[in-house]
Amino acid sequence: MTAEIICVGTEILLGNIVNTNAAYLSERLAALGISVFFETTVGDNPQRVEAVIKQGLERSDILILSGGLGPTKDDLTKEIAAKACGQKLVEDEEALRRLETYFASIKRPMTENNLKQAMVPENCTVLYNENGTAPGMVIHAEEGKKVILLPGPPSELLPMFQNQVEPILQKLEPGILYSKVVKIDCLGESYVETEILDLIEKQSNPTVAPYAKLGEVHLRVTAKADTEEEAKELVKPMVSELKKRFGHKIYTIEEDTTLEEVLVKMLEQRKYTITAAESCTGGMFMGRLVNVPGASDVLNESFITYSNEAKMKYLGVKEETLKAVGAVSEETARQMAEGAAKAAKANVGVGITGLAGPGGETPEKKPGLVYIGVCVNGKTQVNKYQLRGNRQKVREVAVSRAMTMVRLALEEFAK
Ligand code: ATP
Repeated sequence: MTAEIICVGTEILLGNIVNTNAAYLSERLAALGISVFFETTVGDNPQRVEAVIKQGLERSDILILSGGLGPTKDDLTKEIAAKACGQKLVEDEEALRRLETYFASIKRPMTENNLKQAMVPENCTVLYNENGTAPGMVIHAEEGKKVILLPGPPSELLPMFQNQVEPILQKLEPGILYSKVVKIDCLGESYVETEILDLIEKQSNPTVAPYAKLGEVHLRVTAKADTEEEAKELVKPMVSELKKRFGHKIYTIEEDTTLEEVLVKMLEQRKYTITAAESCTGGMFMGRLVNVPGASDVLNESFITYSNEAKMKYLGVKEETLKAVGAVSEETARQMAEGAAKAAKANVGVGITGLAGPGGETPEKKPGLVYIGVCVNGKTQVNKYQLRGNRQKVREVAVSRAMTMVRLALEEFAK
């Protein structure tokens, strides 16, 4: 079965909003084993919306539309979709009742234009909206095709898709999908993909797909079978093969486990404490670590040392070092990591110093240059990174790299 996503909204075409609905729907459909061959964004223009729906009906089994279901004049998706499917609009009693209850609860009169939200195509399954007023719907079109209309606001679309549409799609495409994710934190996406090209080329069931995440690559292994047990059995050998190929470069194979959680657990197991001296990341490393419940077991204090003075005052970084090689240097990162560990009496000290940009570059130091020092029980390693991206991305990836360095150092896999 093939699906096509159609996002309606001039705001998206103007770049005023980011099309997160399309990304969400694509990801969910892939997880359901439904291929998405086309994704279109079209403005709030009746003729163009109709043309896109008609074209979609010719080439796909399922069309999923987002947006344009509201009460205002430019919200025309439903009217156009019904027309394209050759169906009339009829009043849905339950939709009307819900609208009336909603307006009574907010003590406001229901205006005439809201009534149009209770009108639905004659042959459809109505998806009542638990988080807004506009209902969604699955229009049953000719030749078994489905045209699924969802409200634009993600806070309404996401739960409606997950709770009401997914069960319908699962019935259309029977079988159980089971997937496992292999998370790698110290290799780039293209490298990872090259290493598994042979697996990707001959894949059928299970499939393996790489996804680039911030500072990480996730390999999703998905299998389809009649029962969950069978699907799990299909996934197992592929996950074993990936473990063999990537070894300690994998930090987890658990869906909901994050790198910071792995780190906190490793520190807890060793009864270690950690501290950081952060310059360009300004506390982001610790911010991520503190996201983990129980971080207090491994963390007492930490340092944001942005200026040279602060680096000297709190961490004991030497003035000669700063004068000779500058704050963004291997030696400064080393002294920051060691100085922080000493000052906080922690087993692990992390020092992060870099040039997040924009600007501030010298012929030798370009934006994105980051030095990270990790000191574990007095043994220090410093890595140099030239990261790409804007200021925010450089800082976020620097944090991920630092976490990976700590993980590897604790596992004693550091180079
Ligand atoms: P409403 O009843 O709020 O008008 P609607 O179904 O008519 O809902 P739109 O008017 O198209 O939806 O969009 C409403 C809001 O939903 C947009 O202003 C935007 O914030 C969000 N939105 C719409 N489409 C998308 C999208 N594809 N991705 C992310 N957000 C979106």
